[in-house]
Amino acid sequence: MKRAMVISPAGNPEKLRFAVKFGADEVYFGGELFNLRVQADNFGHDELAEAARYCREHSVKTTFLMNAFLHDADVREAERFVSSIKDYGFDAVMVSDPGMLMILKDSGIQAEFHLSTQMNTLNSKAAKFWMDAGFSRIVLARETSLDEIRMIKESTGASIEVFAHGALCVAYSGRCLLSRYLAGRDANSGDCAQPCRWRYSLIEEKRPGNYLDVIEHARGTEILSSMDLQLVDRLEEYIDAGVDAFKIEGRMKSLYHAANTTRIYRHACRLAGTPEFQKMMPFWLGELDLVSHRPYTSDLFNEFGAMGGFNGVPYINKAVFLGYRDSGSDPADEIIMKTFNPVYKGDRVEAIYPIENDVLDGNLTVVAITDPSGREADMARPNTFCTVRFDGPVLRDAVFRKRI
Ligand code: SF4
Repeated sequence: MKRAMVISPAGNPEKLRFAVKFGADEVYFGGELFNLRVQADNFGHDELAEAARYCREHSVKTTFLMNAFLHDADVREAERFVSSIKDYGFDAVMVSDPGMLMILKDSGIQAEFHLSTQMNTLNSKAAKFWMDAGFSRIVLARETSLDEIRMIKESTGASIEVFAHGALCVAYSGRCLLSRYLAGRDANSGDCAQPCRWRYSLIEEKRPGNYLDVIEHARGTEILSSMDLQLVDRLEEYIDAGVDAFKIEGRMKSLYHAANTTRIYRHACRLAGTPEFQKMMPFWLGELDLVSHRPYTSDLFNEFGAMGGFNGVPYINKAVFLGYRDSGSDPADEIIMKTFNPVYKGDRVEAIYPIENDVLDGNLTVVAITDPSGREADMARPNTFCTVRFDGPVLRDAVFRKRI
């Protein structure tokens, strides 16, 4: 079976580094303008140049996101922005708006063009149309069925990408006005406030102020909130249908999310078509359960739950991301840890690592902590670089978590 690529979210330079270390074939990220995550820590110009350089050095491809839709008033600024990024050497640019494609082409940028899922490509004629326009890869609409993927691949030969993991949106392929209407923030300009996941009440017209709760589950209503996507157990079917690349959603999610989902999908893509694929499945599913998520589905036509109407989609958090080993390549009991949540002396933690041939993950106990000022401490505060000693060796690239 052909080896499909894993495309990982890089919400900031730190997440990019870990997506690369944990096995991404390609990473995607946006600059300060014109990508569909204006709330993410998008990359400044120096960071963009450095990201492209770092990925080249590690033979990982880069896709730069320019997939917002433009109003006429945005065109001049888009032209200026494109001319400021065109020489960074990205392998590809992700585009939705044909106007943006023209601006990019006119700029002379040397990059492939990938068509965003926002353009809802569902059939081979549409795929052909976009290929003729200059796109080399098509990110299909998420509601494309396996049979349709197969037909598109067979009749166009297009390089095909689909979403494999992460949050879904109740609007098919992101076409939605809810956020613009309720919050004045436009989802199609990358500024969705996710009102589909807010808590709602019901009011009867003649009883103003009398709010009736719409109770769906213990933590709220979220009447439109869909489940999260998880395609790991169906990768072989999708590869067989012609998918070349699987994208993991989540630029706003944690570094731990980027690292762990990347290594699991990378491992699964490598073993697809071999007897090991089913043997490793319980491990992969267990690991994907340890990143925070809503209940998973692999059924894109029934993302609210299997056949039975709405059951509520509370967030599931089974592990806390503690931090990562900051530097050093040799196995060592004492390391510098960049912390993201509190770490306590005596904590039982798990270290996860990129998967080459074997899974190297291990359990460790925190024996001693020295804070950034050099004092012994019982706790490492979040967002610090502390020296942490364990009861066993920590390998390079360790990411730490604690079960809840
Ligand atoms: S409001 Fe919800 S359904 Fe609409 S675009 Fe945002 S996440 Fe998607």
